[in-house]
Amino acid sequence: MENGTGNSTNYFNLKELNHATHALDRNQKTYSNVLQCIGNTPLVKLSKIPKEEGLECDIYAKCEFLNPGGSVKDRIAYRMFLEAEKKGILVPGKSVIIEPTSGNTGIGLALAAAVRGYRCIIVLPEKMSDEKVNTLKALGAEIIRTPTEAPTMSPESNVMVAKRLSKEIPNAVLLDQYNNVCNPLAHYDTTAEEILWSMDDDVDMVVIGAGTCGTISGVAHKIKERCPKCVVVGVDPYGSILAQPEEINESDVQMYEVEGVGYDFLPKVLDRSVIDKWIKTEDSTSLQMSRRLIKEEGLLCGGSSGAAMWGAMQAAKSLKAGQRCVVILPDNIRNYMTKFISDQWMEARHFKPLPVNDKIWWWNKQLSEDIIKPCSSISPDCTVAKALALLHKTGDTLLAVLNDQKSIKGVFTTDNARQRLANLSASTGESLDKFIVKKYYKVNIDNKPTLGEVSRILDISPYVVVVKTEEYIEKPLGTITSEDLMHYITTNGNHMNGNCKA
Ligand code: PMP
Repeated sequence: MENGTGNSTNYFNLKELNHATHALDRNQKTYSNVLQCIGNTPLVKLSKIPKEEGLECDIYAKCEFLNPGGSVKDRIAYRMFLEAEKKGILVPGKSVIIEPTSGNTGIGLALAAAVRGYRCIIVLPEKMSDEKVNTLKALGAEIIRTPTEAPTMSPESNVMVAKRLSKEIPNAVLLDQYNNVCNPLAHYDTTAEEILWSMDDDVDMVVIGAGTCGTISGVAHKIKERCPKCVVVGVDPYGSILAQPEEINESDVQMYEVEGVGYDFLPKVLDRSVIDKWIKTEDSTSLQMSRRLIKEEGLLCGGSSGAAMWGAMQAAKSLKAGQRCVVILPDNIRNYMTKFISDQWMEARHFKPLPVNDKIWWWNKQLSEDIIKPCSSISPDCTVAKALALLHKTGDTLLAVLNDQKSIKGVFTTDNARQRLANLSASTGESLDKFIVKKYYKVNIDNKPTLGEVSRILDISPYVVVVKTEEYIEKPLGTITSEDLMHYITTNGNHMNGNCKA
């Protein structure tokens, strides 16, 4: 069942809606459950980064990563939950919550479902981190993953799969964060109230990353009422169309690494009329800023926090000494422990330089084709059984799965096949499609990768795929494992630096 809350003519007339009483009581001694601890997050002044960036104004971080589920989305999840219970749409012990999300709304809903006793199904794209998936599972949620590249309006997207399942599963309730007015309303009533309370209703700029846009729309509506001079800045990654929907063409919708922000459609909870300025961001500078927020300011935040802060560093150049800018840091480090928190993960994407290692003779040596072990390729139409037989015969680590243009679509590995067969209802008679590993590490020989780079990737992956670009087509050359690299080192090294010849 879909919960279409609000009507479109006066959808953003948030002032006229029912408001949750909001007590800014930071001294409560005990809480009846963890859901009571959502919100009232601290506003912390940055001490180093703004100065280093040459800013004169003060920058404050709204630490949403300190919410119980680890993100700003706890607020809307709980608000949608309470409203639906009040209206009898959600019935404890009977209703099944199902929601498409980039993970954090899912964690917020799973948290509420765990405390109040509901079954909860979360549908999220494959791009989103395994850390989010493991957190969701630990909270008792069931997970369905959808292809990252599926456009939102296609039947395979997380939004459409959740919609379909909500019609098929008895007693399913889709709270629908993209359309539910409780999303912006939660921020209108709480996040914005807290910012205004901390700033004594005097703030010059707020900078907020845009996903569903519930945070920015809700905060902006309240702030424009109480502090009209405040400039509201939206932050949107390249690859998303939220900032420039009038001028989009197909190539504007692209994959980016930062999670939780950006979309290929305009959610109903976005009100562009209250956003004064947009800043576009890219992965590299966003994630480097997240690392700086952690290292220099001690704020254990996620990737979209870095994007918002990088955006703030650009937008706040117009502010003078004494003026104040608030930046929302939406989620926490936990979601990304194996992603941008890993140096090797950052280096593999060229978001961070490789460590210098002059003591090892092979570190700066360019990867040559003789180290690469050629791999066989296969079409996605083949069966899993055929692919497994081929791997057994060749003794290869993996098979490259090629599309019709002979470009690499992904890889097939025995390990992944075992995981899929053991944990999902799948059979070896099926075509390879569902078994293709799309998240794998590769280096392009045309970029002249070094053995040091290959070695750093092997720290976090059992193999590296080597590709070559020919007429815009990425062709697989083969793979390298630690064994291949070690064989090269031991057969080419010398005694002087500890790498003896065999
Ligand atoms: N950052 C992260 C990490 C998120 O999960 C989200 C929610 N998708 C946002 C930013 C954006 O919040 P909103 O959906 O309110 O625009």
